[in-house]
Amino acid sequence: MNKIPVIAIDGPSASGKGTITQLVAEALGFNYLDSGALYRVVALAARQKGVSWADADALANMTEMLDIRFERGAVLLDGHEITDEIRTEEIGKGASEVSAYPQVRSALTVLQQEFAQAPGLVADGRDMGSVIFPDAAVKIFLTASAETRAERRYKQLTQKGLSADYQAILQDLKLRDKRDTERTTAPLIKTADALLLDTTQRTIEEAVEFVLDAYKKYINFSLSH
Ligand code: C5P
Repeated sequence: MNKIPVIAIDGPSASGKGTITQLVAEALGFNYLDSGALYRVVALAARQKGVSWADADALANMTEMLDIRFERGAVLLDGHEITDEIRTEEIGKGASEVSAYPQVRSALTVLQQEFAQAPGLVADGRDMGSVIFPDAAVKIFLTASAETRAERRYKQLTQKGLSADYQAILQDLKLRDKRDTERTTAPLIKTADALLLDTTQRTIEEAVEFVLDAYKKYINFSLSH
């Protein structure tokens, strides 16, 4: 085993991917890639620079020039911290739009692959196992029913004291799922070699155990072959 092990975790919005990916990375001491954050940065940068979310070529040219860095949990764009700014619903919507363009996706491919550094990487996204890291050691397709995901997001927002509308959240999630699964470039799909992890009836701890277990099996299998 001389290549860097990658655990690819793909799935729809609000499936718990972010939390589970971070906990798995912590447990293993691995690096962590939040690929959705990159598409969010592109959407935010376009807004700041007056580039339309509908102009694929201009977006791709802009993306090539961006200096995007992750430092100790913070996201930096051209040296400025934008960690919270990329988390709004509006920028999430923009990320979903700009990520549909193949030009934008390829402008971010190498940057994502460079995250595969020793001792290993846990990568969270939509196409980690299918496109960016096709040779990943473990591929997980993490999902939950749309209703469960909408409920979780609703709770997150209300617990922060923000106002939230469950029906609007549910509709928005369904729309985003549709856009992510129906786009022609790198659609959200479960590849044949990915393990299905449905968290509708599982706690975060159980989901983390499932991923760590799958990785242990991969290690044992590699050592015995
Ligand atoms: O995961 P997150 O909600 O931050 O992602 C924002 C958007 O970026 C998603 O709605 C999805 O359309 C897009 N995305 C993608 N490919 C990835 C990660 C995110 O297309 N690998």
